[in-house]
Amino acid sequence: MTLRLDGDPSEVGLCHCRTCRRETGGPFMAYAVFPRAALTVVGETRSWIETTDHRHFCPRCGSPLFATMDGDPAVEMRLGCLDDTSDLTPAFEIWVDRRAPWLAPLPGAAQHKRNLP
Ligand SMILES: [Zn+2]
Repeated sequence: MTLRLDGDPSEVGLCHCRTCRRETGGPFMAYAVFPRAALTVVGETRSWIETTDHRHFCPRCGSPLFATMDGDPAVEMRLGCLDDTSDLTPAFEIWVDRRAPWLAPLPGAAQHKRNLP
């Protein structure tokens, strides 16, 4: 399966919420927001749903890929599935009250207790 993205993201961030930790199997999730039209998927993904979020993963290896939200024209790409993320620096962190106690805030990133205001 191949993902192709065109254009630049509107947001790059880290999420420490329980759902994202469960999705990634890690202590937080790193993501970048693109217009949904910027993403081309060649091949099949599977997804699971939590409230309005459809969280897509690779059916072969299980890697988290992206999420779409009902009624939202954006797609949240998981940075771990992209080949080159060198220019995608997280500008903020959300759900920081759920951050692992041993993990320091990312220098320069805005800190939000819950979702973006
Ligand atoms: Zn989250």
